[in-house]
Amino acid sequence: MPDDSGEHAVTRRGLLGALGATAVTAAAGAAATPRSAVKSWDLRTDVLVVGSGAAGVSAAIEARRADARVMLIESLPRFGGSSAMSGGVVYAGGGTALQKALNVEDSVEQMYRFLTLAGTLHPPHEKIQLYCEGSAGHFDWLVEQGIRYTDKLTLAKGLPMGDESLYFSGTEQAWPARDLAQPAPRGHVPGIPGMNGGRHLMEALLSRVAALGVTMRAGVAAHRLVTESDGRIAGVIVSSDGEQRAIAVQRGVVLACGGFIHNREMMRQYAPQLYECSVPWGNAGDLGAGINMGIAVGAAALRMNEGFAIAPIYPPESVLSGIVVNASGQRFISEESYHGVLGDAIAYHQKGRAWLITDRDSSYAFHQDNFLPVAEASTIGDIASRLEFPRGALQQTVAYYNLHAANGDDPMFRKSRLYLRPLQGPPYKAWDLSTSRAFFPAHTFGGLHTGTDGQVLSSFGEVIPGLYAAGRNSAGIPTAPYIASGLSVGDCTFFGRRAGRAAARMRTLG
Ligand SMILES: Cc1cc2nc3c(=O)[nH]c(=O)nc-3n(C[C@H](O)[C@H](O)[C@H](O)COP(=O)(O)OP(=O)(O)OC[C@H]3O[C@@H](n4cnc5c(N)ncnc54)[C@H](O)[C@@H]3O)c2cc1C
Repeated sequence: MPDDSGEHAVTRRGLLGALGATAVTAAAGAAATPRSAVKSWDLRTDVLVVGSGAAGVSAAIEARRADARVMLIESLPRFGGSSAMSGGVVYAGGGTALQKALNVEDSVEQMYRFLTLAGTLHPPHEKIQLYCEGSAGHFDWLVEQGIRYTDKLTLAKGLPMGDESLYFSGTEQAWPARDLAQPAPRGHVPGIPGMNGGRHLMEALLSRVAALGVTMRAGVAAHRLVTESDGRIAGVIVSSDGEQRAIAVQRGVVLACGGFIHNREMMRQYAPQLYECSVPWGNAGDLGAGINMGIAVGAAALRMNEGFAIAPIYPPESVLSGIVVNASGQRFISEESYHGVLGDAIAYHQKGRAWLITDRDSSYAFHQDNFLPVAEASTIGDIASRLEFPRGALQQTVAYYNLHAANGDDPMFRKSRLYLRPLQGPPYKAWDLSTSRAFFPAHTFGGLHTGTDGQVLSSFGEVIPGLYAAGRNSAGIPTAPYIASGLSVGDCTFFGRRAGRAAARMRTLG
């Protein structure tokens, strides 16, 4: 992957050399920098992309292809962001080339139904419609950028650790989603064994950025937006090696700085449920800088409390024959739900507390360090009293569950028969799934309010001229509950491309 030792990157020192002396007088401390405070510009570009994750590089590729001069800056010494750490799963469907090659039936309509009905209330319909309609074409684009997929499908739950490239990456097959839309495998993952898909995806996209002639600068952080008196974005103040510099932007700035999972103060204020989760998931640059820069020039921010709270109880799938209960000793979800849906239910609806109850056959067969076993006993009653559940509650839950499971039925949460059988063989164990005590990764979905082309909108719904945002810097299609892996990188690349194209078209300064 290109980094600042690579051919296409320029180091901080290199940037300083290129920029010359500082030209900013009144920027420090202000929320945004008025154009009048910039005595002279150190550098000019048509489009400035801030952040080198999946959203930023996709924007840079399309802006460059639209013939704009493009500069991409990254605050950390290395390009790639959280995107390079990720599994690289892209949620795509409606008949992608890979789905067709594997004889998987899918349609734009079923994908749209799943994405609009199985998750949050009032999802961003217009963006989801575009995403579903453009999904097959977007997958072709990813392939064109050099990302390699294999014609292999797996039906196992969870990110493939082999070289399979298509799987059910979400909650499609769990109730209620399976009654709302025809399930189809839509998780498209590079055919690279292990958790290396994101690295491969980002290597391919970054190579394309470099090959297209985008100017890439690592170790340069955007600091403040520069605004004209009429509100247009004229440029960006960046800092590098402690020095501030001013970059004039002729057409548009694309903020693609990722989310804010590592800004603990923002987490506490905006997303308290995610703040409680034990593992902030993302690269060190996810500090919310892009969101704050946008807010400072009047942008609205949406869904700031939402995110991906993950309770990865599977694999192995055998544990899904256990039950998950809350502090009242009651079930509240189908255990086979995608781990983002389960995590959401625990973090947002159970005050961050839950336990997985297993019997002899559903217990983990290996040492499990994601979740601690906090009680072990030969009866359910003993488990209940050790966990101090309300008297008799867990016993009733298990009796009711067992009664129906024996007939292949789960009247409350309609767990699939594949995982449904009575809990009946000691030793029984309780595993602590609490957000603060278990391995409970989380990252954020809240970000700047954007239109379908990434144009940043104010709280009055007005466009802020010259300003675009994409990926987790924006409020995109991932919402809570997160219903499928791949929606974030899918959203970053799909809407990043649109933002890059729109920014290249925009002419703020003539
Ligand atoms: C382990 C892991 C696995 C995951 N797997 C998947 C998956 O398989 N599929 C999926 O859809 N999602 C997955 N996710 C989530 C997904 O990776 C992220 O939501 C997504 O990559 C965010 O992309 P982005 O482009 O918005 O931000 P990022 O990839 O985080 O890029 C933002 C970049 O901006 C830089 N930056 C920040 N501030 C500034 C500044 N002021 N100036 C300049 N640069 C700045 C950051 O340093 C960073 O490099 C996973 C996350 C993790 C942590």
